[in-house]
Amino acid sequence: MSGEGFALYNKALEAAMNQQIKEEFASAYVYLSMAAYCEAQNYPGFAHWLGMQAQEEAGHAIRFYAFVNDRGGRVTLQAIPQPPSEFESIEKLFEEVLKHEQSITGMIHSLYGLAMQEKDWASVPFLQSFVAEQIEEEKSATNVLAMVRMAAGNPQSLLLLDRELAKRE
Ligand code: MG
Repeated sequence: MSGEGFALYNKALEAAMNQQIKEEFASAYVYLSMAAYCEAQNYPGFAHWLGMQAQEEAGHAIRFYAFVNDRGGRVTLQAIPQPPSEFESIEKLFEEVLKHEQSITGMIHSLYGLAMQEKDWASVPFLQSFVAEQIEEEKSATNVLAMVRMAAGNPQSLLLLDRELAKRE
């Protein structure tokens, strides 16, 4: 498809969505690095939960990728920063998960605001699904953090929680 019918695709939004593709892959990378840390600490259940989270984020990146292409925009991939590989504790790690999700929520809201400002109506319902998605993401991160905090300092409880999170599908 060369151009025809797609010429009006908004360039500011295209740039912001390309940025978001990077952010979603960067999230996947952060979570995978957290998973690797948990593997190394002998917490396969936490590692599994974080690995699933990483896959979800990569899925989000691909949804943005497809959307830009479907609109006749041009995807340009950007460099993904190296994620941290060491964490103070499981509790600190899950605090980072929640903070990370909150920052992603802020980015999605900015994108939504830009789509409204640019009157790019096709992007609005697409982004709306991510606004809703972030409610779920923050909720599950908050829940896991609360459970980790309850188990903190008690190896047996932490082990039980690790087994529980191994069940995430
Ligand atoms: Mg995401």
